Amino acid sequence: MTKHTEVLIIGGGISGSTAAHFLRRPWQLLEREPVLGGLSTQYRSNDFWFDYGGHYFHFLHALPIQSHLTTSAPFKRYVRRSKVRIFDRLIPFPLQSHLESLPATWRHRIVRELATPGAAPGNSLGSGLRATFGSTLYQIFFYPFLSKYYDTDPDALASGMEKGSIPQPRPDTATLKRDKKPQGYNPEFFYPVGGLRLFWKKYEAPLMSSVRLSEPAISVDLTRRRVETRSNTYTFSRLINTIPLPQFLSLLNGFPANPNPPGALIHASTRVTNMVLAVRRRRFHWVYLPETIHPYYRMGYYPGAGACKIYLEQSVPLNTRMGEKESDASHLLQQLGVIHDREEILYVSQRTIPISYVLFNQSWFHTVPEILQRLKEKGVYSIGRYGSWNYSSMAEDALTARNTALAINREMS
Ligand SMILES: Cc1cc2nc3c(=O)[nH]c(=O)nc-3n(C[C@H](O)[C@H](O)[C@H](O)COP(=O)(O)OP(=O)(O)OC[C@H]3O[C@@H](n4cnc5c(N)ncnc54)[C@H](O)[C@@H]3O)c2cc1C
Repeated sequence: MTKHTEVLIIGGGISGSTAAHFLRRPWQLLEREPVLGGLSTQYRSNDFWFDYGGHYFHFLHALPIQSHLTTSAPFKRYVRRSKVRIFDRLIPFPLQSHLESLPATWRHRIVRELATPGAAPGNSLGSGLRATFGSTLYQIFFYPFLSKYYDTDPDALASGMEKGSIPQPRPDTATLKRDKKPQGYNPEFFYPVGGLRLFWKKYEAPLMSSVRLSEPAISVDLTRRRVETRSNTYTFSRLINTIPLPQFLSLLNGFPANPNPPGALIHASTRVTNMVLAVRRRRFHWVYLPETIHPYYRMGYYPGAGACKIYLEQSVPLNTRMGEKESDASHLLQQLGVIHDREEILYVSQRTIPISYVLFNQSWFHTVPEILQRLKEKGVYSIGRYGSWNYSSMAEDALTARNTALAINREMS
């Protein structure tokens, strides 16, 4: 059957759904899965609901969308308590503001380097961090942590890809004064009372009459402005895409040849190991894990009351099967003081996120903006962390989606 809509949205995560909330023209939304929410909802395993790794809302860089999201459902505010595990101890995050907690020999070297102007930053993520923080802090924290996080050497990635997520040293960092001021993009965060799934129940309610669940887009013709699914053909005036850009490009007909040169759009994949524990023993929210003796880069507690649920995140090569690259996490959890013995782990569930972090190499800068511009000329807004092939948070994605919808409303009025 052929259906016409003014605006067609592909993907019903936070980006596609927020755009739908703000559109004032007729729209339809196609979602591949039987539920809305994408990565920002929860999945059920046995009797438990789990998030896809730590998913906290932080509005510092997306204030205009805060009231829209937090009035849809009740949210609770948390003041971040995060740590870094290094030298067999837990040091408050960010490490560069708590140098007094490091062993003296390392601390002295780091302080000396922070006080000395560094080399020119270069154009890789690694060289930029060495220039800013010195080679010692890079060697003990940034290199091992980021190599695990992105499954890639930071020297192979472009500077700027961290997008302000790494707190910079302050003028008095090297003096070791205790810096109590909040740092980073998430000194506080918000999480829906009762979990992400309950947020989605409320958030999706006004949308459902124009949403097509379990109906993936399988081909997109930009010349005739048509999208095919297995059961329908949709014609549109404007298209909002939120699925990962390489996947979207692979669905396209009528777009100039080779929009995605091999190796240009690269990414990491993440395996999330979720667990239910018998008891909560620690009060921190999450811990960054630079040590290379195990594969995990972050461990955290899911917020909220009820069962004590935790997650461990590790990057894995794409197509890694369950059971491969597996590491017994119970030893690590004991070191962190999260469990006393493995009997306290009551349940384990794993999910792999095939595209989790967009990686920026040098070709990102001359490939991605050009692809997005060419799509826009064809009436396609490709948005969201994966649709725009960028680094962003849920709140930033929601804000971009709102702004996109408002721009389309103006264009079509
Ligand atoms: C491990 C991890 C931890 C994170 N932690 C945080 C955090 O703490 N805070 C934060 O703000 N952000 C966090 N993020 C980022 C956050 O997940 C994203 O910014 C956000 O979820 C992106 O939303 P989206 O709607 O753009 O994309 P998605 O959530 O990926 O939604 C895209 C939707 O498109 C659907 N789809 C796919 N293919 C098709 C098709 N062919 N046809 C129709 N539909 C299709 C998918 O099913 C999905 O529902 C984290 C990400 C990861 C990977």
